Amino acid sequence: MSAAAWIIRAAALVASEADRLTRLDAAIGDGDHGHNLDRGFTAAAAAIDGAAVDREAPPGRILIAAGRAIVSRTGGASGPLYGTALRRAGKALGDAPVVSAAGLGDALRAALDGVTELGGASEGDKTMVDALAPAVAACENALAEGGDLETCARAAAEAAAAGADATVPLQARKGRASYLGERSIGHIDPGAVSTALILRALAETAS
Ligand code: ADP
Ligand code: MG
Repeated sequence: MSAAAWIIRAAALVASEADRLTRLDAAIGDGDHGHNLDRGFTAAAAAIDGAAVDREAPPGRILIAAGRAIVSRTGGASGPLYGTALRRAGKALGDAPVVSAAGLGDALRAALDGVTELGGASEGDKTMVDALAPAVAACENALAEGGDLETCARAAAEAAAAGADATVPLQARKGRASYLGERSIGHIDPGAVSTALILRALAETAS
């Protein structure tokens, strides 16, 4: 798996879905999520494409650099959360020259731990955790059944998409959407949608 290819693919998907993500955030937030994330991922992809990051560096190093770019360029609550997720994933991979299936499972788990430590959200709070937590569980289940890296990534992407859809009936208990109380019910969480998108990019590049 190429970490550089993942981030570059994620940046392309985020750019093409930025308007939709921002519209979703306009319904229960402040209408900036897609453009926030587009700025961050564009910066991360540019760092990888440019001289700032050695594309031949170990995948863990690339994810740490991407996370750093995202923290510095993404506004809103999601910037530090996604930046932390990628830096923690990168640290979990360490300097391993290639990502193993088990390594990917550990990296996704570390990303989830980083997001929950920083944001304090649990599953059911209508946040990106509602996509990321089932994704980690699905990847770990796939690995326990002997699945390879591609199987783990695909399982994670599918579970994240289902987890995002399942945020619609939830009431937000974290982040800006929680200010709406019951009025947050009936809308999908934009951060859960973007997490599913980023994991779809992973599945597409993990083969
Ligand atoms: P902001 O809410 O500051 O405008 P964004 O619009 O970029 O930031 O991101 C909103 C998304 O961030 C939400 O849809 C939600 O998924 C996620 N989010 C907000 N707060 C938290 C938190 N405490 N833990 C996890 N995710 C969160
Ligand atoms: Mg917002």
